[in-house]
Amino acid sequence: MGGRRLSPGQSIDALDEAIDVIRGIWAADERAVLRLDGEYYGLRGAKRGPAPAHDIPIWLGAYKPRILRLVGRKADGWLPSMPYLKPGDLQAGNQAIDEAALAAGRNPAEIRRLLNISGRFSAAGQGWLDGPAGQWVEDLLPLVLQDGVSTLIVMTDDPGTMRRFAEEVMPSLRDAVDRERASRGRPTAPARSAAALSRRRDGIDYDGLPAALAESAVEPGDFDYSRVRSTYLRGGAPGLVLRVTSVPQVVEALAFAREQAGVAMSVRSGGHGISGRSTNDGGVVLDLSALNAIEIVDETTRRVRLGPGARWMDVAAALAPRGWALSSGDYGGVGVGGLATAGGIGWLVREHGLTIDHLRSAQIVLADGTVATASPDENSDLFWGIRGAGANFGIVTSFEFEADEVGNIGFAQLAFDATDTAGFFERWGGVVEAAPRDVTSFVILGPSRGGQPPVAHVMVAVDSDDADTVLARLQPLAQIAPLVGSDARITSYAAVMANASPDPHQGQGEPVTRSGLIRHITPEFAIAIEKLMATGIVYFFQIRSLGGAVSDVAADATAFGTRDANFAVVAFGTDRARLDEAWEDIYQHFRGLYLSFETDTRAERLGDAFPAATLERLRALKQRYDPDNVFRDNFNIAPPPGLG
Ligand SMILES: Cc1cc2nc3c(=O)[nH]c(=O)nc-3n(C[C@H](O)[C@H](O)[C@H](O)COP(=O)(O)OP(=O)(O)OC[C@H]3O[C@@H](n4cnc5c(N)ncnc54)[C@H](O)[C@@H]3O)c2cc1C
Repeated sequence: MGGRRLSPGQSIDALDEAIDVIRGIWAADERAVLRLDGEYYGLRGAKRGPAPAHDIPIWLGAYKPRILRLVGRKADGWLPSMPYLKPGDLQAGNQAIDEAALAAGRNPAEIRRLLNISGRFSAAGQGWLDGPAGQWVEDLLPLVLQDGVSTLIVMTDDPGTMRRFAEEVMPSLRDAVDRERASRGRPTAPARSAAALSRRRDGIDYDGLPAALAESAVEPGDFDYSRVRSTYLRGGAPGLVLRVTSVPQVVEALAFAREQAGVAMSVRSGGHGISGRSTNDGGVVLDLSALNAIEIVDETTRRVRLGPGARWMDVAAALAPRGWALSSGDYGGVGVGGLATAGGIGWLVREHGLTIDHLRSAQIVLADGTVATASPDENSDLFWGIRGAGANFGIVTSFEFEADEVGNIGFAQLAFDATDTAGFFERWGGVVEAAPRDVTSFVILGPSRGGQPPVAHVMVAVDSDDADTVLARLQPLAQIAPLVGSDARITSYAAVMANASPDPHQGQGEPVTRSGLIRHITPEFAIAIEKLMATGIVYFFQIRSLGGAVSDVAADATAFGTRDANFAVVAFGTDRARLDEAWEDIYQHFRGLYLSFETDTRAERLGDAFPAATLERLRALKQRYDPDNVFRDNFNIAPPPGLG
């Protein structure tokens, strides 16, 4: 505005534009840059954000008609000061605000009415707000009941006045309001805004949401929506996210979601689903992230109870002081719920097995709302099914695991020139298969860029805190190709897992993937990898070692049934059809699939993920526990044809 002198009217117009600027900058989840060609402010593509950490309402202290109309059109609250109001001003101001709000398509009740007050605690009968606490209550009650004032701010620096107001006036005033509110005056709490209501999605009975869930509900118009709409990899636009905080709330939320006919339902724990998306478009999301307790159940048997919303980095950090760890994954942000119902292939997998191999019992909310226990002794068929295909049978609300004793570990990152891509993978596979089970190794290859040789990144975890042992294990790996970088250290499993950001998910990448399990990296398979990478379609290719303790478990002991694979493979691309086409050649080599890394939703993938006998058993289990196919957001195993 360049120091321009503004008339009172112009100041209000400038304020009007300023509100648009402020709100536009705060709208960090809107993709488009901010443009404003105003009379007072001009923005030519301003970057939005950062988003405020909490909702910041805009309240205006206004007295004259023009600015009162601005309050009605754009503000979140009206904050006049009692000493400047004449009798009747509060009513007239409210009316002007209400009319302007309605004309702007807003609900007048969404504008909070606040009031600055001043007064004195004194003997009875001195004047308005000049008396004992009881008289303050009597004086203030009409403002709340008749004028809709819901926030009172005492203008004083005197601690005694503040304390008496907080301790003596407010509790009695609240009680009096509660007693009388039912029959009189305007509502005292702001309502959901008209703008928020207009963003509600069809098919969801928002008004029918049980009161117990109302506090946990986030709708598209809510401040928190941008934090919960998407997951780590997927952008979403759900109509309602229910951030449940207890098992009874899970039961109630599930019943509510089921009542919304034709509306999608997703179950979310840590929000890192690759196959299971845990967000949707226009549906209901049951968000279990608040069920994130990590409890030690028994010191001698190393029993720990985990909530589905706990993240694996927090689990690792909580168990580390006891010298314990649970074999989980490689990324600390992944949630317990999704990973521990599918498998769990992580840094300790060859020595300690899959995460599901440590599960001793689970509490699960079934489709009909029953809260069941699944263990070797109770609902043992369900216990079998949730260890590999858990997403199909219910919502697991707690997991009881037996942790292992794990001290410090060796952790190395080796970078290799992988110009001879096929030879590199064949040699890596041979060394890893021959290594003792204390070695777990993952390898990542991306496309070669700008004429540079392709670089393969090999990560190696050695379950030993002895430097000589770690070096001995790394030695054969260091020789598989020209080494271009290396870093090795003795560290804790918790430190390796502490690698995730606490920021809300923004749905990065929207990748498409293909995956498979394989026994050996044969020369033919290695050549197929080289060909696949040469297409340029895959931007991230990874192989993880399996085998070891994973293969100790019988194939029919859990729903994760491909126990003889030594490697899990995944390729990420951006184009479904192109990736599927490029994958055709390599596909023939696989004998199984880990569903957590797969995004191809064609029915054949189920046959890849589960051996035939396992799949048949899973279908029968589905018929028993979820005949209406309520849980279908992740590799759906439909009940047997004709039975469902
Ligand atoms: C960056 C990254 C790294 C990964 N690393 C590994 C790894 O090292 N090892 C590995 O094995 N996997 C790994 N995965 C895959 C991961 O294990 C799965 O995607 C898993 O489903 C994520 O769990 P979540 O709770 O975070 O996901 P969410 O997105 O919350 O859930 C995914 C799906 O799991 C199901 N689900 C979630 N919670 C429950 C519940 N309480 N009860 C029943 N079903 C539920 C639902 O179908 C849901 O759609 C990784 C994924 C990402 C994005």
